[in-house]
Amino acid sequence: MTSATDTLSPAAIVAPELEAAGPAARRRTVAVKVGSITVGGGAPVVVQSMTNTDTADVDATVAQVAALALAGSEIVRITVDRSESAAAVPHIKEKLLRRGLTTPLVGDFHYNGHILLAEHPACAAALDKYRINPGNVGFGEKRDRHFATIVEMAIRHGKPVRIGANWGSLDDDLLTRLMDENARLPRPADARAVTREALVRSALLSAALAEEIGLPRDKIILSAKVSAVQDLITVYGELARRANYALHLGLTEAGMGSKGIVASSTAMGVLLQQGIGDTIRVSLTPEPGGDRTREVTVAQEMLQTMGLRTFVPLVAACPGCGRTTSTTFQELAFEVQDFIRSSMPEWKKHYPGVETLNVAVMGCIVNGPGESKHADIGISLPGTGEFPTAPVYIDGKKAVTLRGPTLREDFKKIVEDYVARRFGVGTARPASPGIDAAE
Ligand code: SF4
Repeated sequence: MTSATDTLSPAAIVAPELEAAGPAARRRTVAVKVGSITVGGGAPVVVQSMTNTDTADVDATVAQVAALALAGSEIVRITVDRSESAAAVPHIKEKLLRRGLTTPLVGDFHYNGHILLAEHPACAAALDKYRINPGNVGFGEKRDRHFATIVEMAIRHGKPVRIGANWGSLDDDLLTRLMDENARLPRPADARAVTREALVRSALLSAALAEEIGLPRDKIILSAKVSAVQDLITVYGELARRANYALHLGLTEAGMGSKGIVASSTAMGVLLQQGIGDTIRVSLTPEPGGDRTREVTVAQEMLQTMGLRTFVPLVAACPGCGRTTSTTFQELAFEVQDFIRSSMPEWKKHYPGVETLNVAVMGCIVNGPGESKHADIGISLPGTGEFPTAPVYIDGKKAVTLRGPTLREDFKKIVEDYVARRFGVGTARPASPGIDAAE
């Protein structure tokens, strides 16, 4: 009997769409320089984050900006909400520079930005970008005046501006006008669609106004944040279709824990796959006392797992199942990922290209050796009832078998030696004790 696969020629097996798998070509936007970082214009997608310290507390803010920058945030935004915060900004910048941190700082302004920037020229000069929300710069006739003042300040100081419209603070006049126009249509759209349109138009009209005032397009970044995945995809799809401004992607109020990560990754993943988005921020609600740098790690992992950028070697690990009755392999997977992350600042100095390393930690021999062979270095830990040894594969070949109480340290040493041998210049160290010869 002929099976389905017998009728397939090799040409038919490799369908064109399979060959073409991967993110769409990046949508071409106008490049914007934010300090030393380029956003848009085909530059790699930039990771950014935001502090949650009181900016008036210089030391706390410096510490958090430094932590975010060292975690990999390429731009950091800080709140500038009152005179004390604005006065603190130049000191924050100076302290960061003294620590060798040149990460661009963005000032986040609402309602009183026009006053703060005018009264604190040192703040206006120290910041690398201003972020304003067209729905939050003032009301009625004052809105355009305040907006114009901030834009003029940006022109005077040579700074770019992010015009960040937000679903939660949409321009009421614009929304009301669009709702009224919609109501007069023979077949009105639903209110949500009108609100999405108002958000898109708010961002684009504000950008056009900024250009009219004299801010060039290469000083404008747009965002239009919403909190629901489908709305974000629709709104950014429209922004990308209608103009070529550099786009900042982010799901606002994404939420806590896994929900925030999943929602952000789903929405931004779809857009990035379409080539939309020049810089991203993952807005996670940290647990009380939680680590703010988590949002940077998630943003990096999102870009890396999509194949858009490479930041740090990632550890592939199986999920575990009934064959893994001990927690050894989960512990080793976490330990190895932590070890790699903490080693990266040093490794990056000496081992160019080390971020492309991939490591696999597998829970048993069912899929372990196979998966290990696809990694640069892979280890299969013994599953339940299996012989208590852990074969290690290097560059697809079985290299050694680890066993005994020093197994974790031995494996990390193997990773370290491999990194030195492959990415460095003749700095390999001798193998650790307890490792068998290649089998
Ligand atoms: S590799 Fe082994 S332990 Fe891991 S999920 Fe597969 S069968 Fe389970």
